Amino acid sequence: MAASGLYVITGPMFAGKTTELLRILNKYRIAGYRTLLVKPSIDERYSSREVVSHDGIRMEALVIEPTLSDLVRVSEVLHSHDVIGFDEFQFFEYNRGLVDFILELSDERTTYVASLNLDFRGEPWEIVKELLPYADEIQTLYAVCTYVDPETGRKCGKPASRTQRLIDGKPAPYESPRILVGGKESYEARCRKHHFIIK
Ligand SMILES: [Zn+2]
Repeated sequence: MAASGLYVITGPMFAGKTTELLRILNKYRIAGYRTLLVKPSIDERYSSREVVSHDGIRMEALVIEPTLSDLVRVSEVLHSHDVIGFDEFQFFEYNRGLVDFILELSDERTTYVASLNLDFRGEPWEIVKELLPYADEIQTLYAVCTYVDPETGRKCGKPASRTQRLIDGKPAPYESPRILVGGKESYEARCRKHHFIIK
């Protein structure tokens, strides 16, 4: 019988959340536990079934719609594993039933949730905000602020807790869509001082 509990890994983009999640699942797998990685389908970037971390850990993922009804659909699969890790949890719909589903799952299974802390506006994701207080443990990861001082040309380099969205190299306006899947061309990790939103 495996342990249970809810463990949250949070932070901005480029902080290594997925790498940490895969590292933990892999550790349990080596110890003989049945592990399962779950990710929400958002677009092509997320529909691929295999996740590879920066340190080369490969893992098959169960890709589901980020809704309560799809979680219920795969409930049996979830319960047939000992340790379940959700990646990109912020993309799941905001729904009290979904929170209760995760809480019930974590009563019986070891449940890890990796999630962005804030959106590009610096505002919390409702589903994450609702779930976070129930966590048995919260691990906050930081990236490195890559803001370049225009006068000195040097990078800030402080711990980054925010995700800056850029459009043609400039801070994105507040009204732009909340979900825009992209990598280094559209996002940068920033410290609080260097996180800008154009209102
Ligand atoms: Zn900075």
